[in-house]
Amino acid sequence: MTEERIWLSSPHMGGEELDFIHDAFSTNWIAPLGANVDGFEKDLAAYIKVPYVAALSSGTAAIHLALIQLSVKAGDEVIAQSFTFCGTTNPILYQQATPVLVDSEPDTWNMCPIALEKAVLDRISKGKRPKAVIVVHLYGMPCKIKEIQSICNKYEIPLIEDAAEALGSEIGGQMAGSFGDFSVLSFNGNKIITTSGGGALASKRKDWIDTTRFLATQARDDAPHYEHATLGYNYRMSNILAGIGRGQMKVLDGHVANRRANNAFYRARLTDLGFIFQSENSEGDRSNYWLTSVFIQPEILGKTREEIRLALWESNIETRPLWKPMHLQPLYKEFPYYGNGVSDELFDKGLCLPSGSNLSERSLQRVVDAIVKCVTK
Ligand SMILES: *Cc1c(COP(=O)(O)O)cnc(C)c1O
Repeated sequence: MTEERIWLSSPHMGGEELDFIHDAFSTNWIAPLGANVDGFEKDLAAYIKVPYVAALSSGTAAIHLALIQLSVKAGDEVIAQSFTFCGTTNPILYQQATPVLVDSEPDTWNMCPIALEKAVLDRISKGKRPKAVIVVHLYGMPCKIKEIQSICNKYEIPLIEDAAEALGSEIGGQMAGSFGDFSVLSFNGNKIITTSGGGALASKRKDWIDTTRFLATQARDDAPHYEHATLGYNYRMSNILAGIGRGQMKVLDGHVANRRANNAFYRARLTDLGFIFQSENSEGDRSNYWLTSVFIQPEILGKTREEIRLALWESNIETRPLWKPMHLQPLYKEFPYYGNGVSDELFDKGLCLPSGSNLSERSLQRVVDAIVKCVTK
């Protein structure tokens, strides 16, 4: 008998989601607007402490609308963290702009500020001032956001903060998702809270979030008929899904606590074996530990990342290699890249462990036992 599958990160409902969905049905607001959308936006704004938030159909849509408002057009350049999910960078291609990919640094596994400044200076010297920088808090781990902000300020380049994986993370007591000129959240099925699919764009500027709503609603001008002077998109969040989001907001802090406890559990049992954990880099950093991720040194453990991954799969435990950096992806390999192999090596040797907020201690112990068995045999 194989034991039950342990998933990498599965949805975890709190219980009140269905009440909010029921409200939508009983008021017949089965639409991409309504009380749940308004309520969810308010809850998010209060949580990350950013005054304006628009709920959208996905995090990818949020990044797309941020780029459009920063007037990124064909031929423009946008700098992005290479070590990420394609949702960060694909919207640059939607705009037919050129992604300029920047490597990570070993402390946080996120964008290296030194490589960023090098890239900015080199692009400017080639006559191409980047129109935006997109930085990511990968797996919830805060990037060196203060350093990156000051580089962006110095060269007057707007900053998009991709906090899709980092809702609930903090930097110096300030919430992830509150640092960018635009900040992006995602509520896809595997994220720390989910609406099944969804995202949000946040900003301190009311006009930007008003425009976000306008563009996300097919850019419909004020008229009794349908009048369009601008290219718009159908990117709003459904009032049903926003109901799930309102329920999930009530359990978000609990999810963060559980994921941090998972991380502590693994850390206490695997560090001495030689596993290196993605770790908070400075005093005020607090990761939501959306996914606990380890770096595997085969010379110390006697096993490669792939051997460990496959051994766990044999025990019905799902793990996953880290994100394959964009500069290594067939779709992106032609684009400029600044770095020296940090994210290449993380991709080669890194593994995400089961991290759901609904994992039992027994499941966590099963993961640890399977890892120990693999590396000690
Ligand atoms: C999930 C994710 C996105 C995109 O969000 P979707 O809601 O899936 O479109 C963007 N960036 C990162 C880093 C993500 O993990």
